[in-house]
Amino acid sequence: MKKAVLGLLLVALCLIPLPARAAAPIRVMILDGESGGPYHNWQVTTQVIRKELDQVGLFAVDVLTAPPAGSDFSSFKPDWARYQVIVFNYDAPDQRWPPDLKTSFETYMRNGGGLVTVHAADNAFPEWKAWNEMIGVGGWRGRDEKAGPHWYWSNGKLISDDKPGPAGHHGLRRPFLMTARDLHHPIMRGLPKVWMHQGDELYDSLRGPATNMTVLATAYSDPANSGTGLDEPLLMVSSFGKGRIFHSAVGHDALALSSVDAVVTLQRGVQWAATGKVTQQLPATFPNEHTVCYRSDLAALDPNYPRGYNPLDAPSRPRPSPPAPTK
Ligand code: ZN
Repeated sequence: MKKAVLGLLLVALCLIPLPARAAAPIRVMILDGESGGPYHNWQVTTQVIRKELDQVGLFAVDVLTAPPAGSDFSSFKPDWARYQVIVFNYDAPDQRWPPDLKTSFETYMRNGGGLVTVHAADNAFPEWKAWNEMIGVGGWRGRDEKAGPHWYWSNGKLISDDKPGPAGHHGLRRPFLMTARDLHHPIMRGLPKVWMHQGDELYDSLRGPATNMTVLATAYSDPANSGTGLDEPLLMVSSFGKGRIFHSAVGHDALALSSVDAVVTLQRGVQWAATGKVTQQLPATFPNEHTVCYRSDLAALDPNYPRGYNPLDAPSRPRPSPPAPTK
């Protein structure tokens, strides 16, 4: 009898399903260390990007800070292959990286690496051919028509314009409407057709080879805000060899990165670039056609946040003179 009970117990134990092993985290490197100027405060924006990624619960994030300008890069040899995706919060001129460093990154990408570029990372390396194939389009750092045509969206497709001119421009940081152009892509699934993005620069006139580039979302660059009058690509995906690239042209600073749409697309874009899939749900706070929404906990990581919106006020004028005393 005892044996029978023991036997039944063993059978019962065998029927209890073992807990599923938690999937290994996706290994993410955030690369920072340089930008085009103090207006792109990478020390702050890396904190924001890291917090956004840590909150997803899928990623194991390391930050690698490249040596500053003027340093010796000969011993800077990132172990790209340890990571499923590299997030570039980094913008440096062509000569900064020695050829073997560039080649090592190209090899990583050709072999199936993942790349996410945030905002001014598309300013980096104007003459590095493979880099520009990865990001599709870029701006500034002397780019002009030799970098490739200006790409914009019209009548349901991507149009190129190879007229001469500089690459990269933006107007004032007004809230603007984003329009989804591919709601079937895993990064975009469930998003509304249009939504408001806030706190940011709307990059226009980006140029490049746009090799294998698919536009996920655009924004209308308003001539009333010194824009082009065209729908400018702001969220893109590309491929390079077996590698996947998510290029987000939004995210000028902590406030811009904290816009909930920027948070969601970055979190999804990193997972997609690493794995080709997105398993994240859309938050109920995603902005809509008329409503901006930003994460105050992320925006507050900017040391200027306590100044509030006062810098947005009209230029200060002298106080009006007090009324003349009546006689
Ligand atoms: Zn910027």
